[in-house]
Amino acid sequence: MNTFDAKKLARPELLELTPYQSARRIGGRGDIWINANESPFNNSDLDKLNRYPECQPPALINAYADYSGVKPSQIIASRGADEAIELLIRTFCTPGKDTIASFGPTYGMYAISAATFNVGVTALSLTSDYQLPENWPAEIGDAKLVFICNPNNPTGTIISKQDIEKAIASAPQAIVVVDEAYIEFSPEYSVADLLSTYPNLVVLRTLSKAFALAGARCGFMLANEAIIDLVMLVIAPYPVPLPVSELATKALSSDGIKLMREQVASLNQQGERLTQVLQQIGAQVLTAKGNFALARFKNVTEIAQLLTDNGIVARAYKDPRLADAIRFSFASSAQTNKLIDVLLSSKNT
Ligand code: PMP
Repeated sequence: MNTFDAKKLARPELLELTPYQSARRIGGRGDIWINANESPFNNSDLDKLNRYPECQPPALINAYADYSGVKPSQIIASRGADEAIELLIRTFCTPGKDTIASFGPTYGMYAISAATFNVGVTALSLTSDYQLPENWPAEIGDAKLVFICNPNNPTGTIISKQDIEKAIASAPQAIVVVDEAYIEFSPEYSVADLLSTYPNLVVLRTLSKAFALAGARCGFMLANEAIIDLVMLVIAPYPVPLPVSELATKALSSDGIKLMREQVASLNQQGERLTQVLQQIGAQVLTAKGNFALARFKNVTEIAQLLTDNGIVARAYKDPRLADAIRFSFASSAQTNKLIDVLLSSKNT
């Protein structure tokens, strides 16, 4: 029997906390709203922009519930997935005492977010083929949160759904956070449907990648209600600006989702073209399951210089495991044409 109890993992002082009672949360009924020191004037085309927004705008949450197949009560909208990472750390980790675990090379914000809160990081390594190492549960100590990025940034590699499920089951006293920021590029690997089976699972999502809304700052945490209730104790009173929830709700309409899927298919095509050329010029390219490819080069300094000289800004890494690698985000067809021309010219230099 699974004895997971989210409250036992939470920072104990939070259990005593009465969250800030914002005017919006207290609410009321009537025609004259003078309870929140807002302005009575709306100077914008957006309805009610002079008023504070709902903490968790119902239209947005319902739209994401429809899209993800998860219940509205299992969703928190945040300022990007980055804020969701921070909220989890602030909810479950006591500074100077608790730790998180992650598997690198991976997305840097798990460790940075923990460090800004004086929370320790058990940084385990992925295997040479970018899978979870054997016996990792024995190595995470009392880590409260175990971050698994799938598809993984920056390698672009994927861990099978079966192995992720095994991981969730192998750490029943921790919260396993599966970061699915890139899942729209490989949707068959999502574990969001496992929420009904595992109380210790959290899935992170974002509109910054496939939905093309990085500038809007909108992400989601999917989890069972016991975890959601605890995170709601630490979230800001108004984390989702009104213009953001309007844009995001539109992106999650059936037209918005159709557009997203078309763009994902097109980006995947450009990624395949790019991968072929990278291989042609001798790079070792990892299986690209997100919207980017990580390529290892024998002459990485030369390639990096070539890109810079041609005004192409790709991502190189300080991590010694990635010293010979460059990450290429998939781009438009015209941008990919240019990139391919530049890469092919390296063969002639
Ligand atoms: N997780 C991963 C794996 C990412 O690569 C990123 C963005 N680089 C994020 C989370 C953060 O996404 P957001 O823009 O929603 O904060």
